Amino acid sequence: MPEGKTILVVEDNEQNLELVEFLLEEAGMTVWAARDATEARARLADGQPDLVLMDMQLPGTDGLTLVEEIRRTPTTARLPILALTAHAMRGDRERFIAGGCDGYIAKPINVASFVTEVEAALKRPAGSIPREVSG
Ligand code: MN
Repeated sequence: MPEGKTILVVEDNEQNLELVEFLLEEAGMTVWAARDATEARARLADGQPDLVLMDMQLPGTDGLTLVEEIRRTPTTARLPILALTAHAMRGDRERFIAGGCDGYIAKPINVASFVTEVEAALKRPAGSIPREVSG
């Protein structure tokens, strides 16, 4: 059940952030919004969301660097992370998954399927995706 789940959304584009926030809250989820890596780190220092939606193109520290940081931190290493990215090029998905993301949601957001995609990621058992944690 997605109700009561907390999603950390890291997104610097205000319109995208508002849309994602609207869709998730309408489905009964709580949204923690972060507009850059600094805000995301502060949120993660305060508590654990159930899932992270990570824009890959952020000002300053980019999404992939932040994902690698989350994976290296023992308290957040197994957090489900979905990449949120405008990149639609073949190979990007593989690159983001190799970098520690569990999946990928393409922008522009498909309003009809977005919440279903998030719910599917929430249903996966924790740690079901094997990953190498280095560093
Ligand atoms: Mn961005």
